[in-house]
Amino acid sequence: MSSREPIFLEPVFQEKIWGGDRLRTSFGYDIPSGHTGECWAISGHPGGDCRIKGRPGQTLGGLWREERALFGGLAGEGFPLLVKLLDAREDLSIQVHPDDSYARLHENGASGKTECWYILDCDPDATIIIGHHARSPRELREMVEGKRWGELLREVPVRPGDFFQIDPGCVHSIRGGTLLLETQQSSDVTYRFYDYDRLSEGRPRPLHIEESLAVTQSPFRPRELRPQTRREGDALVTELVRCPCYTVYRAVLDGRWQRDWDAPFVNISVLDGRGALDGTPVERGDHLLLPAGYGTMTLEGRLELICSHL
Ligand code: ZN
Repeated sequence: MSSREPIFLEPVFQEKIWGGDRLRTSFGYDIPSGHTGECWAISGHPGGDCRIKGRPGQTLGGLWREERALFGGLAGEGFPLLVKLLDAREDLSIQVHPDDSYARLHENGASGKTECWYILDCDPDATIIIGHHARSPRELREMVEGKRWGELLREVPVRPGDFFQIDPGCVHSIRGGTLLLETQQSSDVTYRFYDYDRLSEGRPRPLHIEESLAVTQSPFRPRELRPQTRREGDALVTELVRCPCYTVYRAVLDGRWQRDWDAPFVNISVLDGRGALDGTPVERGDHLLLPAGYGTMTLEGRLELICSHL
């Protein structure tokens, strides 16, 4: 593949007990069932490796292994980021992720997981869980063992356009009625604190109480984000977060936007509208990647995008 070609990806869908049908009704995707929870939109992860449009048999994971120059020759076993859309009809489990050093040691060299959420749509009274109210690791253990979930968990109202960064060690849960885009480290190491005593295929999903307690930051300290917005051509570009794992932007364009990304690759998800990227049509629901050496990107149209890079 040439470094001047954008790489368009085919999403991989994941059915979940908490999923719904909004990935079809809202984005028009051909989903496998009415409980489809996740669209892995930009992924080279073995649990859902996206096929490359127009390149039969090729996947993002395969490109990462065989054509590393497209990613600026980065080191690492797998494509490092994962972009998902999530449709939570029901609540997700209460969970926490380890950081890189804990995961390397205890999860066979896996990476930890930092993630962030951009809320696309939600019910008027929707909430999420971020953090907890225990004042010490000991109090956290007491409240978890006593199943005092209502008292323990920090519930936050959400609205479309909100953005949240979930660092390793932060207890969290997406709750029912929320459609969001998640950008994360490509990892699936998740420790479940609590799953509402639900059954999946007749059995409760496993919990990981000791691992959860070991990695949870206590007391919880909320993450302060100060998103900066600036105009670039006809686009308003907001840097939502910059952390050691990724930088994530939201861009709203009405006209023309040129940018030379100083990054080994750039993920782009089209949340709304239609337009063209250097002459190639793009529209709502498209997910693509600009390889290293792409040079200046020119986007035209009316578009809302989430972009990310390392
Ligand atoms: Zn998570």
